[in-house]
Amino acid sequence: KNGEMVTVAQLSGFSEKSFPLCMKQLYDVVLKEHHLKHWGRLQLGLFFKRLGLPMDEATKFWRSNFTKRPETDTSRFDKQYLYNIRHMYGQEGKRADYTPYSCMKVINSSVGPGDHHGCPFRHSDATPLRTKFVEAGVPPEGIKEILNLVEQKHYQIACQRYFEWTHDKLTIEGGVTHPNQYFIESRNVLTG
Ligand code: SF4
Repeated sequence: KNGEMVTVAQLSGFSEKSFPLCMKQLYDVVLKEHHLKHWGRLQLGLFFKRLGLPMDEATKFWRSNFTKRPETDTSRFDKQYLYNIRHMYGQEGKRADYTPYSCMKVINSSVGPGDHHGCPFRHSDATPLRTKFVEAGVPPEGIKEILNLVEQKHYQIACQRYFEWTHDKLTIEGGVTHPNQYFIESRNVLTG
C-alpha cells in the first residue's frame, strides 16, 4: 500500500500478481538480461520509488542485477548508474521530486526496437501479448476480449480487463490511469 516501506525481497512476489504489465515486463527483463536501457530504468525506477522502495534498496536492486553481467563490476556500475538512481530520488541535479509516469505518459512513450518500456497493450504485438495472458492464467474468452480492445486502441480498458481476469473479476473503479494505482488496487484486493 502507499506510504509503506518496500524492500527488494518483496518485489518478486509483488511483480507476480500486482505489477501492471508495463512494469512486470521491465522487471522480468532486468532479472533475465541484467540490463535495461535508460527509459526503461526511469519508467520502472520511478514506479519503484512511488511503491515505497527507498533509495538504498533501489540501489541494491539495480546493482545486484546489473553486476551479474561480466562486463559490469561494482565500480563500473557505481560510475555509470549511481548518479541516475540518486537523481530519480531527487538527490542530484535540481533535486526535483520526479513523478512516476501515468498511463498516458507510458502509452505515449516513443519505443524503438530493443526497448522494453512503454505500455505492452500499446507497444507489443498480439503474439507476445497472448503469451503473457496465457502465463497469467487469463482464459481464452478473456484473451479474446482483451485483444479486441487492443485492436480498437482502448489500451487502458484492455489493462482494466486484464486486471479483472487476474483478480477474480474484481475491477478498478473508474478505470486504470496510473501504474501505481493499478498496484495499490491489486494489493487492496489481494490483502483484503
Ligand atoms: Fe501500464 Fe497503464 Fe499500460 Fe496498464 S494501461 S500496462 S498500467 S501503462
